[in-house]
Amino acid sequence: MGRTIQLASQSGSRMPIYEYKPKLETGCDFCSGGFELLRKISEPKLLACPQCGVAVERIISAPNLTKSSPSLDPANVEKHGFTQYRKSGKGVYEKTAGKGPSVISSDD
Ligand SMILES: [Zn+2]
Repeated sequence: MGRTIQLASQSGSRMPIYEYKPKLETGCDFCSGGFELLRKISEPKLLACPQCGVAVERIISAPNLTKSSPSLDPANVEKHGFTQYRKSGKGVYEKTAGKGPSVISSDD
């Protein structure tokens, strides 16, 4: 898959990871097949590959959601087809997102 390069030093603030791919089939080793970039929100949109200058576009989907975002926002969980449960008691799990039974009890 693509490589990740970092354009800014770790400052403690969260920076979104954007994934880009060349608009055309051509590209260099770096950008062909897509690449990821950590960018501050305030930075301008990346329009060209930093290596070869070919026009690139952002990929809207978030293929690395689980890797890059530890947040288990119920809306995200549900959107990606998962069901999330929260332990609400001894052996009892309450559904917070997704499809499935609203309560799971694992009482023996
Ligand atoms: Zn390139």
